[in-house]
Amino acid sequence: MSYQSLNPATGKLLKKFDELTDKELETKIATAETCFATWRKKTYAERAVIVAKAAAILRTKADEFAHTMTLEMGKRISEARGEVEFSANILAYYAKNAERFLAPVKLHPSLGEGHMESSPIGVVFCVEPWNFPYYQLARVAGPHLMAGNVVLVKHAGIVPQCAIAFEKLWIEAGAPAGLYTNLLISHDQSDRVVDDPRIKGVALTGSVAAGRSIAARAGKNLKPSSMELGGSDAFIVLEDADLEHTIKWAVWGRMYNTGQTCCAAKRFIVVDKLADKFLDKFQGALAALKAGDPLDEKTTLGPLSSEQALLDLLKQVDGAVSHGAKLIMGGKRVDRPGSYMEPTILTDIKPENPAFREEFFGPVALFFRVKDEDQAIALANDSDFGLGGSVFTKDIARGSKVASRVETGMMFINNISWSDAELPFGGIKDSGYGRELGDMGIQEFVNKKLVRYVSAEAPL
Ligand code: NAP
Repeated sequence: MSYQSLNPATGKLLKKFDELTDKELETKIATAETCFATWRKKTYAERAVIVAKAAAILRTKADEFAHTMTLEMGKRISEARGEVEFSANILAYYAKNAERFLAPVKLHPSLGEGHMESSPIGVVFCVEPWNFPYYQLARVAGPHLMAGNVVLVKHAGIVPQCAIAFEKLWIEAGAPAGLYTNLLISHDQSDRVVDDPRIKGVALTGSVAAGRSIAARAGKNLKPSSMELGGSDAFIVLEDADLEHTIKWAVWGRMYNTGQTCCAAKRFIVVDKLADKFLDKFQGALAALKAGDPLDEKTTLGPLSSEQALLDLLKQVDGAVSHGAKLIMGGKRVDRPGSYMEPTILTDIKPENPAFREEFFGPVALFFRVKDEDQAIALANDSDFGLGGSVFTKDIARGSKVASRVETGMMFINNISWSDAELPFGGIKDSGYGRELGDMGIQEFVNKKLVRYVSAEAPL
């Protein structure tokens, strides 16, 4: 049984779901392909009616959607509501802008005329993680459906109720059968979906291990893919940073979603002059967080998404310490029912320590003290990941130069705003390839076709 909904705040099993049989899976793939044949011919305005309706329903039923998410993966209720709202914004954004993003582009060849036009490619298979149970789905559904593709989605095993709720959303919005299909399937079945000739593109958001496996499979089948993988983002604090402002972002950057965000601040790289003060205030602010029921608005520390996630993270912290890191706060589970972990800070992590290169997916901050800006940038770049990062300084021009020198797909100056419907999102190195959101996100699974007209005779 790999799809089960379990409340991580209590450990109580909520519901179990059977995986699809191979026969059921076949029917769903066939329905998706049939749907594509008509959906591709719809105008952007016709597609937008359904996508915008889905956005409107999300807004109307925000509390209901948020509640399911909080029960199933422990996200604090205010954050859950924010995620539902953001998911609605993404759908509305593509409903409004898709036609403009995919409009033909005139070219100017030396002879004759030409243009590039965009057309959908077919059924896109999307594999998605639990940490943002709706936002991740909106990130693929909004652009790809508006582009004229249809989607099959394999969501994470621990959020089946969210996966099912999001599928129902499309039915309620008036989507034809096969436009958006949730698949409760095993990894083996997922491999077969990637291999299936009716599938024309594969999008994954998840861990590096899943990325390697699914990207290799897509590559073997010569199918386009986009990979949104893990990260170990640097949070660089220069000596001229506004400390109060920086600390607030440090806490939010590490603790939002209980630290389970791909582009959370994970490595705190602080210039020597501010390092002691930063560490002292950061520690104080983290210690003030109170574990509680994530449905309670007053709770400031929610549980991790599952007991397994907690056990893995505790083991990872122990491993870091056994290789020489110093634990200056936290490191243990919170003494209460549920999968809660104390906010944790590790220092003295040397390059030989495996923790130096690992992603810590939870409330664990790695702290590094550096001499100056150059050393901060060198350390930030000494990572297998390249998703995002941030730099804090009162001098925006300086921050901008630092941002240009850090090797990642995204950089933020004096904030970690992470993501907006309008802003392309994605990374380099082991953080993957391709972009979601913004105008780039809709271009990933479309055929960019050149059409050229020349009235000249063929050369002899
Ligand atoms: P995960 O284990 O890779 O799971 C993500 C999804 O991939 C789940 O649906 C999972 O299904 C599926 N999956 C994993 N291995 C698979 C395989 N061999 N074949 C088919 N499907 C497979 O990742 P996670 O631990 O849940 O999520 C956290 C990771 O995602 C972190 O590394 C985080 O940084 C990354 N992430 C990246 C972004 C981004 O935009 N860059 C955003 C969010 C999260 P099951 O649950 O059934 O195993």
